[in-house]
Amino acid sequence: MGKKVIIDTEECIGCESCVELCPEVFEFDDDLEKAVVISADSYDEACVEEAMETCPVSCIHWEE
Ligand code: SF4
Repeated sequence: MGKKVIIDTEECIGCESCVELCPEVFEFDDDLEKAVVISADSYDEACVEEAMETCPVSCIHWEE
């Protein structure tokens, strides 16, 4: 099982950059108006790293 991705929902501003970059990892929650992580056993690490760098508020993290 790979590393888990988490979004600090408090910080997320719902810009959808991560959803556009990695639609297999992130989806937009219309109720929360924020991005959420799609449940999976593993994630495309390169794509997630790119989303981390692109997120304007740096709220995407690998679970420690
Ligand atoms: S890129 Fe960051 S701020 Fe934008 S929707 Fe994704 S987690 Fe939220």
